[in-house]
Amino acid sequence: MILELLFPGRCLLCGTELAFRSRHGEPLCLDCRAGLAPLAARRRCTVCSLPLLSEKRLCTRCRKRQYQFESNLSLFEYRGEIRELLYQYKFRNRLRLAGVLAGFYAQALRASFPDAVLVPAPANPQAVRRRGWDPVERICRTLEKNYGFAASRALERRAGPPQKLLGYEERLRNLRGTIILRRQSVAEPVLLDDVFTTGATASECARLLRLGGASRVRVLTLAIDVP
Ligand SMILES: [Zn+2]
Ligand SMILES: [Zn+2]
Repeated sequence: MILELLFPGRCLLCGTELAFRSRHGEPLCLDCRAGLAPLAARRRCTVCSLPLLSEKRLCTRCRKRQYQFESNLSLFEYRGEIRELLYQYKFRNRLRLAGVLAGFYAQALRASFPDAVLVPAPANPQAVRRRGWDPVERICRTLEKNYGFAASRALERRAGPPQKLLGYEERLRNLRGTIILRRQSVAEPVLLDDVFTTGATASECARLLRLGGASRVRVLTLAIDVP
């Protein structure tokens, strides 16, 4: 028991034994924590924030698509340590990681959308039932409680077919009618989600928020899945 207090476990990323409990009870060693740096000012697509290689301003994907949101800002590419961290959080129920992850969102919100009202992307109720909790909602609550951001649960999702392995158009079609507007939207909401994959979920959420009165919708996601 006492040993457990002194040695609360191992780093979730590298397995190093943690000699002490960090300030927020983070299950990460100092080295791994320091290695988690959000993508800095590399050349990014102005719409979806995908790192650009030779394209100018817009990635090839965004050239062909009309999203209902104005822009998405992703803090990481969805691979390596951040992918593992999200996996540990969502599928191994490491709930304490909500604090670590919320810290990244908070930093970006303060820098880019300081007065934003957050709208968490609504989870599929089947996933919530299976897991017993809602990962994005939990991060949103941490942002309200620990960082003082305002949030509005304007959207709700009904059960629908799984979206994995589907392309953008099919996802959009699948989503129609599964996401619903619960209340009037705020003027300039920032939609929060964990991973930006095709942009279909964000676009459908943004469409509804605009129907509900939002003049523009920006999206903040932890990571972008690079195609
Ligand atoms: Zn580590
Ligand atoms: Zn793009």
